[in-house]
Amino acid sequence: MTAGVETPALLLAVPEFGAAAQELRQDVRRFIDEARAAGDFVPRCDAWLAGFSADFSRELGRRGWIGMTWPARYGGHERTALERFVVAEELLAAGAPVAAHWIADRQSGPQIYRHGTDAQRERFLPDIARGVSYFSLGMSEPDSGSDLASVRTTARRVSGGWRLNGTKVWTSHAHHAHYVTVLCRTADSEPGNRHSGLSIVIVDLAAQGVTVRPIQLITGEHHFNEVTFQDVLVPDDMLLGEEGAGWRLVTAELSLERSGPERFLSTFALLPELMRMLGPEVGDRAAAEIGRLIAELCTLRQMSASVAAMIDAGQDPVAEAALVKDLGTRFEQQVPEVVRLVARADASGEAGATFARLLSEAVLAAPGFTLRGGTTEILRGITARALGVR
Ligand SMILES: Cc1cc2nc3c(=O)[nH]c(=O)nc-3n(C[C@H](O)[C@H](O)[C@H](O)COP(=O)(O)OP(=O)(O)OC[C@H]3O[C@@H](n4cnc5c(N)ncnc54)[C@H](O)[C@@H]3O)c2cc1C
Repeated sequence: MTAGVETPALLLAVPEFGAAAQELRQDVRRFIDEARAAGDFVPRCDAWLAGFSADFSRELGRRGWIGMTWPARYGGHERTALERFVVAEELLAAGAPVAAHWIADRQSGPQIYRHGTDAQRERFLPDIARGVSYFSLGMSEPDSGSDLASVRTTARRVSGGWRLNGTKVWTSHAHHAHYVTVLCRTADSEPGNRHSGLSIVIVDLAAQGVTVRPIQLITGEHHFNEVTFQDVLVPDDMLLGEEGAGWRLVTAELSLERSGPERFLSTFALLPELMRMLGPEVGDRAAAEIGRLIAELCTLRQMSASVAAMIDAGQDPVAEAALVKDLGTRFEQQVPEVVRLVARADASGEAGATFARLLSEAVLAAPGFTLRGGTTEILRGITARALGVR
C-alpha cells in the first residue's frame, strides 16, 4: 500500500442489473404466477429451508435456473451472478419451495466448480443443475459450532481413500440429500496453527456406516439431523480441493452462504399478505413502519447484490458477506415484530388464515436466522477485524 493511501476496509459498490436480467425477472415472475395459480406451491416463510419440493426443483432445473453461472459443459447456463441473484430474489420473495436444491446450488456446486477436479465437476454439477442432486453441509458438531476449527470428526488415510469417524449436527436436509460435504481433520494441527490439518470430503449419504437421525423442531417439523459416520470409507476421489486446505475452502464457502438474498427475505412473504389485509386505508402508523422496513430492505438488497458482483469478479468478500448476514438476518427477524404491531386483529376468512399461518411460520423460524450460517457475534468479530478495530 502507498504510504498515506488507505485501502477501504469494506467495499460495497452499486451493481447494474442489465437488460438481460430485467427480461429474466419478467420470465421468473410469469412462471411463479402460473405455478401459484396452478396450485404447484403455497407461499410460506423460510421457504429456502422449510419449503421442500423435488418437483419444483426439477422444474427450475429444466428452465435453466439452477447452476446458472457454471459453464455449459458442466450443465450450467453461463449467466452472471447478478442474473442468478434476480432468480433467487424472485423465488424467495414469492415464498417458493426451493429448499431441495438450495444448498447444492448456492454452495456445494460452486465449491466443486472452484476447487474440485474436472472429474468431480463432470460427476456432480450436471445433476445439481438439473435440480435432481441435493447436498447438505457437515460443518457443525455437538461441541463445535462457532469454533469450527475445533471439529473432531477425523478422516484417516487407508488404502484407496479415507476412513471417516465422527458426528455432525444440525445437518439441514441430510435425510433427503444425496451427499454431504464434511469438514474433518485429516492431520493433527501444526503448533500455533489450529486451522491446519483440516480437509473437506464429499460423502455419499447412502454409504455404509452413515446414520442420519432426525432432530425435530419445536413446531414438530423435521428439517435438520444428526449424522454419524462410523468407519465410513471415503474414496480418494471424494477429497475436495487439496488435503489440508479445508479451512481456506470453508471460509470461502461461508461468503457464498452468508451474502445472498435468503439472508433478508426469509419472512418477506408476510409483507404482501399484510398489505392485502390492510387494504388501501393503511393508516399513518402502519405506513411509517412499513415504509421504514422497505427502505431498509432496499439498502440490504443493494449490499447483497454488490457482494454477488464481487464474487462474480473472483473476489472473496468475507467481511462484506458477514455484514450482509448480520444486518439482513436482524431485518428478517424484525419483519414479524413490525407486522404484529400494525396488523388488524379482526382479519378473518381465508385471508386471515393465510396471514396467521405465515406469521406463525415467521415467528417460529426467526430465532434461528441469527444462528444458522454463523452467529451475529461471530459475524461482528469478522467485520471488526476487517475494519481494523480487533
Ligand atoms: C436452522 C438452522 C440450520 C442449520 N443448518 C446447519 C447445517 O446444515 N449444517 C451445519 O453444519 N450447521 C448447521 N447449523 C448450525 C449452525 O451453523 C450453528 O448453530 C452455529 O454455527 C452456532 O454454533 P453453535 O450452535 O454450536 O453455538 P455456539 O458456538 O455454542 O455459540 C453459542 C453462543 O455463544 C456465542 N459465541 C460463541 N463463540 C463466541 C465468540 N468467540 N465470541 C462471542 N460470542 C461467541 C454465539 O454467538 C452464540 O450466541 C444450523 C443451525 C440452525 C439454527
